[in-house]
Amino acid sequence: MDRKVRVRFAPSPTGPLHMGGVRTALYNYLFAKKHNGDFILRIEDTDQTRYVEGAEEYIAESLKWCGILPNEGQGYGGEYGPYRQSERKEKDIYRKYAQQLVDEGKAYYAFDTPEELEQMREDLKKAGVAAPQYNAITRGRMKNSISLSAEEVEKRMQNGDPYVIRIKIPRNEDIKFKDMVRGWVQVHSSNLDDKVLFKSDGMPTYHLANIVDDHLMEISHVIRGEEWLPSAPLHVLLYEAFGWEDSRPEFAHLPLLLKPDGNGKLSKRDGDRLGFPVFPLEWKDPSSGEISSGYREKGYFPEAFVNILALLGWNPGTNQEIFSLAELVEAFSIERVGKAGAKYDPEKARWFNQQYLRAKNDREIAENLMKLEESKAIVGDKDIEFLTSVCGLMKERATFLKDIPKEGFYFFEAPSEYDEKTIKKKWKEDSATIMREWKERMQKMSSFDQDGIEQEFKAFLDEKEMGIGKVLPLFRVLLTGQGMGPSMFAIASLLGKEESIQRLESGIKKLG
Ligand code: GLU
Repeated sequence: MDRKVRVRFAPSPTGPLHMGGVRTALYNYLFAKKHNGDFILRIEDTDQTRYVEGAEEYIAESLKWCGILPNEGQGYGGEYGPYRQSERKEKDIYRKYAQQLVDEGKAYYAFDTPEELEQMREDLKKAGVAAPQYNAITRGRMKNSISLSAEEVEKRMQNGDPYVIRIKIPRNEDIKFKDMVRGWVQVHSSNLDDKVLFKSDGMPTYHLANIVDDHLMEISHVIRGEEWLPSAPLHVLLYEAFGWEDSRPEFAHLPLLLKPDGNGKLSKRDGDRLGFPVFPLEWKDPSSGEISSGYREKGYFPEAFVNILALLGWNPGTNQEIFSLAELVEAFSIERVGKAGAKYDPEKARWFNQQYLRAKNDREIAENLMKLEESKAIVGDKDIEFLTSVCGLMKERATFLKDIPKEGFYFFEAPSEYDEKTIKKKWKEDSATIMREWKERMQKMSSFDQDGIEQEFKAFLDEKEMGIGKVLPLFRVLLTGQGMGPSMFAIASLLGKEESIQRLESGIKKLG
């Protein structure tokens, strides 16, 4: 690649960023880092009717949480942007370019009212045209600077009649470009309509602003979602119209994220229905107040979330599944991004988080747990050493950080109920006696470490000629209330002699 790599993430602040959007940002980031290039954030906010309050902040916060920060246009208190098209519009950057195309006969003014446009569509539909378009065939009948006389156009302009600028799509041309993911794409110009480039409110449309900015910002590669593929031929034509074809960025259209069953695009409704978030962070809709869950609030580690997204559409060509961000940068290539939609698997997503949890050291997990608001109530004032040991015992059994105090609540308070299944199956007539004897043996122990308890327990079983399956579940259920869990000897040792004995006593009393 002889050109400096410069890519951009160009979201529109029309709502919360979908996880597919974060994946687009991630792939841009990885591509930029891999090629020592720039990763730029550009907020495409020219459609003011779709502007949603808080959406831009949400985008910034999401990227920050994922650790995929732009190195240009990141702003937010910093020196640069983000680049905002609405602000660039103030400098009238876009009008100039639209005007240039009009002057060169590649675009034209159109004065049609919404009613006239609707009428055109209706007429064409009646005539059997399935998808009516404003194009080479119909533009002659509409009110624009091609069909109207120069005087009439002049008069309307003087009058201040509202107008838009439309691109004049050539009538009979094949538009061809090579997409880095999809290969050659070819579309005939008769399938395109004369899209509006500049609106009557003085704002450029997405298409114009997007092309002008990509050109001015010297973007080398446009990496974006597949939903933009239908717009790409128009963009190619615009680059030609401006005479920028030599510096036109390369396109890479990323595959869709699909529902878990592969039937269609992953939507927020799938998330609601199947119980997983589709947004990186929790989002509160400013108009309805409705709250949508986020990966962060569900307890996902950002590294896990990034890892999950990386593998939705890209494959490393090896069996490796766990990648740090740095490893992703190393391994990533657009050539290994597939065309086929990527099925989202919520189970697998949880598995990833589990892997990240297991890989953390116990002390780090404990420290994070101390900070977790919802854990504080359970953990109370236990010290960090104790908590670290609990994390060591529980992390293999947890998916999220918050599972640890929830599922291991018995480390922090004595159980008040006992697992019914275990009681039904294991609590026999002689159980109280056996447990009382075991309690007395424990009482006599001078030290109370895990190995010591285990040895004592085995000696006890040997003497009584009882199997472990008869006694261990009783020990567990009395101390923890549970039928399953980590090593009982580790639990008892951690709880300490006094607490363990107390729990045995009160349990025996309750169960009789
Ligand atoms: N503003 C567009 C969006 O919201 C950008 C598409 C592109 O990357 O060209 O996704």
